Amino acid sequence: MLNIILFGPPGAGKGTQSEKLIAKYNLVHLSTGEIFRNNIKAATELGILAKSFMDKGQLVTDDVTIKMLESEVNKSPDAKGFIFDGFPRTIPQANALDTFLTKRGQSLSALLSLEVNEPELRLRLAERAKSSGRPDDANPEVIQKRIDVYNNETLPLIKHFDAQGKYIAINGIGEINEISNILCSKIDELIVCG
Ligand code: AMP
Repeated sequence: MLNIILFGPPGAGKGTQSEKLIAKYNLVHLSTGEIFRNNIKAATELGILAKSFMDKGQLVTDDVTIKMLESEVNKSPDAKGFIFDGFPRTIPQANALDTFLTKRGQSLSALLSLEVNEPELRLRLAERAKSSGRPDDANPEVIQKRIDVYNNETLPLIKHFDAQGKYIAINGIGEINEISNILCSKIDELIVCG
């Protein structure tokens, strides 16, 4: 069983890399941002609520996010494992993830952290805005807010998972395929050691 957090700031390449990894390892991909965006498109109550935070670059509240994630995890009782993309983003979310996995008799394999400096992130998000259609990519103030939220609320998770021996840093700058190969070699090591 392989349960991986693909971690990193907005624009680090989590979505791009997740696509490659799910295909190779046959894992269920849970992107909280994507689930919120799907709910916004479908104009659900959750979507309307999430949009009010996302448009400002803020995090959706922990209670709402955790409840949603748990229901998504429960939709895949037979999963060979999960790639969590964009979750957890806070310490309470990390603790909740631990509880969900324990309930399933599982544990986290590793947190793979794509590390990219801020000037590069801003460039990437501005470029992505041209095609993503995401309002939160198009506004420089919202981008700055998302980076600040990452630094203040999400970055402390590295220490949290490092203390458990689960933090693996990956240089997120370079060719997409090169980074993907590095991620795969780390995951292969986890499988062998698993
Ligand atoms: P992402 O697609 O991961 O960049 O997420 C887009 C936005 O969705 C974020 O800026 C947050 O507003 C919201 N979001 C995604 N994941 C979470 C999470 N784990 N906790 C709280 N808010 C989240």
